[in-house]
Amino acid sequence: MANGQRPRQVILKTEDEIDRMRPAGQMVGETLNELFEMVKPGRKLSELDRYVLEKFGRLDVIPTFLGYQGFPHTICASVNDEIVHGFATDRVLEEGDILSIDLGATIDGWVGDSARTEGVGTISPEARRLLDVTSESLAAGISAARVGVRKGDIGAAIQEVIESAGYGVVRGYVGHGVGRDMHEPPSMPNYGRHGSGMTMRRGMVVALEPMATIGDPATAVLDDGWTVVTADGSLSAHFEHTVVLRPDGPAEILTQA
Ligand code: MG
Ligand code: MG
Repeated sequence: MANGQRPRQVILKTEDEIDRMRPAGQMVGETLNELFEMVKPGRKLSELDRYVLEKFGRLDVIPTFLGYQGFPHTICASVNDEIVHGFATDRVLEEGDILSIDLGATIDGWVGDSARTEGVGTISPEARRLLDVTSESLAAGISAARVGVRKGDIGAAIQEVIESAGYGVVRGYVGHGVGRDMHEPPSMPNYGRHGSGMTMRRGMVVALEPMATIGDPATAVLDDGWTVVTADGSLSAHFEHTVVLRPDGPAEILTQA
């Protein structure tokens, strides 16, 4: 999930606390892999949602999104022009769709949050390129994210990859700190100016989550009150990892299985 932020204090994590965040991150990474193995033409979004609800129920894992500010599903499932926060309805996936799945898990009170977009069956070269570029923009953000850089350096690294490919960067939904709450300060925009914004510190754990659009990045929200779509109906993609800032190298990914 992606959110704006109320101004509160950044909550720095000790190495021990970071270790305690690992199971939730692992669970999210592993479960996203399982979900995308289930993705094929004819699959209902609700089947994916039910899979996670049952698995988490069995393992005593809390589905972080379910009930979050009233969100009614376990996963966010966003198809084609849907950017984020889509409902896992009985919609049936079709050949050529692109599907973003965003998933949160809470284990022992610590949250992991990750998302990615993949094709359903064979997708158009244009859609393929959008997925590749958005994924690459997340990698660039993770690579730029380290202790001592400014927040704007990370946003700029993401933005440069997306905009140099000719795509739009969604502005109204951004990454965030992660810890005992899914959404902690600071907000982590997918755009920025080098050398601007707060200095990143040891103990920061953040979700970086670029959202890119083939067309104009302006957004609208559907009547369900949640699903964010591109205003012009163009395709969009979303990739997210929860990462730990490190002093001497790229951020460490917690949500990779
Ligand atoms: Mg998030
Ligand atoms: Mg998320």
